[in-house]
Formats: sequence, structure tokens, C-alpha cells
Amino acid sequence: MRPIPPQLRAAFLAASLLLPPFLSLASPRHAAVSGIRFWTNEEYTRVAVDLSDEAKYEANFLRADPESNLPPRIYIDIEDASIREEILRRPVEVRNGLLKVVRAGRFRKGVVRVVIDLERESGYRAFTMTDPFRIIVDIEGKAEAASTEPGGDTPQPHRGGALLQRDTRCKECPPEEMSPVKDGGGSEPRRAGGARIRVMLDPGHGGKDPGAIGPTGLKEKDVVLAIGKMVRERLERHEEFDVKMTRDSDIFIPLEERTAMANEARADIFVSLHINASPNRRAEGISTYVLSRGASDRQALELAARENGVPLAKLTGVKFIIDDLSTSWRKKESLRLAKTVNDAIVRNVNGRFGPVHDLGLKQAPFYVLVGARMTAVLVETSFITNAREEARLRGTSFLAAIADSVVEAVRYYGEKAAVARAGP
Ligand SMILES: [Zn+2]
Repeated sequence: MRPIPPQLRAAFLAASLLLPPFLSLASPRHAAVSGIRFWTNEEYTRVAVDLSDEAKYEANFLRADPESNLPPRIYIDIEDASIREEILRRPVEVRNGLLKVVRAGRFRKGVVRVVIDLERESGYRAFTMTDPFRIIVDIEGKAEAASTEPGGDTPQPHRGGALLQRDTRCKECPPEEMSPVKDGGGSEPRRAGGARIRVMLDPGHGGKDPGAIGPTGLKEKDVVLAIGKMVRERLERHEEFDVKMTRDSDIFIPLEERTAMANEARADIFVSLHINASPNRRAEGISTYVLSRGASDRQALELAARENGVPLAKLTGVKFIIDDLSTSWRKKESLRLAKTVNDAIVRNVNGRFGPVHDLGLKQAPFYVLVGARMTAVLVETSFITNAREEARLRGTSFLAAIADSVVEAVRYYGEKAAVARAGP
């Protein structure tokens, strides 16, 4: 076996900290591959393999085999699995300079193999999300200019994927100095002088998922959507910001898709908006989170389980990879933004509505933040289960105070980041 090149070593090492080699521990039951989705730009692709049930799987990397005319590829073998005919017949064409095609077949009896043909060797991470079970593969690599020319053959998503975006913004940016593979890609600020700061706002839940529900029936999904729209409207008044939302209507979007949308759009800042909840009806206050493999405390872990839509037991048995090795820069930045957001909300709510409980900065394994390639925070504004806080959340002026705070924090953070980048 030839040695693993250094740019791949980091990804392998990160993966091996958990379950080498990407070997899942799920109980073997028959599962059907029901879909393959992807989101992509020239330097990042997320592939999601949907299954009808939990399954054992193993992911591995294969070097190019010129003799057989095979490109470098990642394959995922799924045991005790079947596959729908329409997926067998329809390979997913990507061809974006990073990936060629995603195809699936019956490898041997009872084993389905999903193969991701790469344009060139790239770092990757594989992990699972549950309820419903899906295998997520994040592939990261630097774009090669020659192979990224937009053409008339823009591939379309196979099923429910976001549209492929051809974003030319970063072609004007200076090349990144850090190795994108080693560090998970896009670690240094992408923003060149004068370029706009792209913000992806993510109102949690939506559609069939109402999120937490208050004692008088107020739904988290509606409150966070209202806040998100207010933030967008306010941020768009400042021309240095380019604002996008994962949703601006009452629709359901899976968690992995929200992150993928932010990555695909090359967002600089990702803000996921939520309202807290607790069986303790007296629980109240404001907290802001960043991603971590462990949780700050029991409440943080319970919160992450609820926001992830999984039972606590499934969350504690870590079945997904948080690439701690690659995210130190990003985590530091995320902590900085989270503190700025939290402080702003507490200060503004205190000033306009009276004393508010500051639960502070926390960390927990939120699915929606896993794999985010930018400064990313999750805001938990108030407890919808607290009657007094629920009543506040019904008021437009309260939501406006929250929105003002997020805008204030994002602007402050954006300015500081710009100054830091321009400085000596
Ligand atoms: Zn939520």
C-alpha cells in the first residue's frame, strides 16, 4: 500500500478518533437505500444517502487506477441493504471539478455499494444522522480553475437537493493560504477587501416540524421565522452584507441540508435561530451555542437532542463526526460571535423589557452545525415553555429587540473581522 499523502492524512486521522474506518455500530437490520442527495460548489460537496432503517456501513478511499481507467473514489458499503431500482438506474452526475458522479449498485449479496467518483484526491468525512437514518459524506478540496467553467450542462440534483450554485465571488479573492483539506477548507476569512460578508440565517424547524410549543400554543417555528425575516430586513440595509435564509416560509428542511446550503453558498457567517424549552416551566433566559462534541451541561445535551430530533440515548453514543482537529480557528471565531450575540440580546432585552436571565455561552453537539465551514452559532432566545417568556415572544417589539441584537452583533463581528484581516 502506498503512503497516504499528507493532505489526506488529517482527514483520516480525524476520522480515526471515533470509529475507524468510518465503521458504524448500528444494529444490522434490513435497510433500503431510498435516495441520494447532494449539495455542491467547486470546493465542497455534501452527499446524503437516505436509508429506510439503520444499517452498518463502512466508508473507504481508493486511489486512481489508471490501468482500469478509474478515478480516485470514495465508496460506502452498506450491509444488509437493498436499493431501489430507480436509484440503480440513475447515477447522480455532479462534474463540478471536485466530483464526477455518485453511483450505487449491488456490490455483493446483501451489500449495497455507493461510489463517489472524484475528479482528484480530496479529503472527506463520513458520519450518520438518525431519525430518519442517513449517511452523510462531506468532501472537501480546492477547486481547479480549468474544470470549473460553468457550461450549459449544469447538473441538477437527483432528489430534493438544493440547486447547484455557480458562485463567482471567490474567483476574485486572493488564494487561501491554508491547506483546505487539512483544515477542513475555507478556514481563513474568504472576504477580500470590499467583498461583501455573506450571512446565512437559519430559522429552525418549519413545516411538519413545529419545534417547541408554548403553554398557549405558540410554535417555535413561527417565532424564529419572524425573527429571521426581521434580521434579514435590517441587515440588508447595510450594503456590506449579503443575506440569505435557509427558509423564509413555513417549510421543512432537514438539518444536514441547512448546513449544506450555507457551505454551498460560501457563507461567512451562519446563524441558526431557535427558542429554548424545558419540562421545568420556570426555566427562562437567553443562551447562545457553538458546536462541540460534548455538551456544557445536562441541559445543553438535552437541548441538542431535542433540536436534533433524536432521543438522548442516540446523541450520547456519538455516531457522527465532529472534526475537532480541523475547526480550532473556526471554533474560536464562532465563540467570539456567540458571545457578541448573547451579550447584545441580554443587554437589549434588559434595557427594553426588564431583567432577563443570562444563561451565557454554551456548547453542544447540534447536527445543524456539524460540517459548517464558517463562523457558526445557534441562538436560543427565551423559553417558549415559560408562560411569561411565551407572552413576550408574541410581541413584535420583543422579536424586534432580538433581531436588532443579532444585527448589532453580526455587524460588530463583521467589522472586527474586517479590521483584523486588514491589520498588520
Ligand atoms: Zn429549535
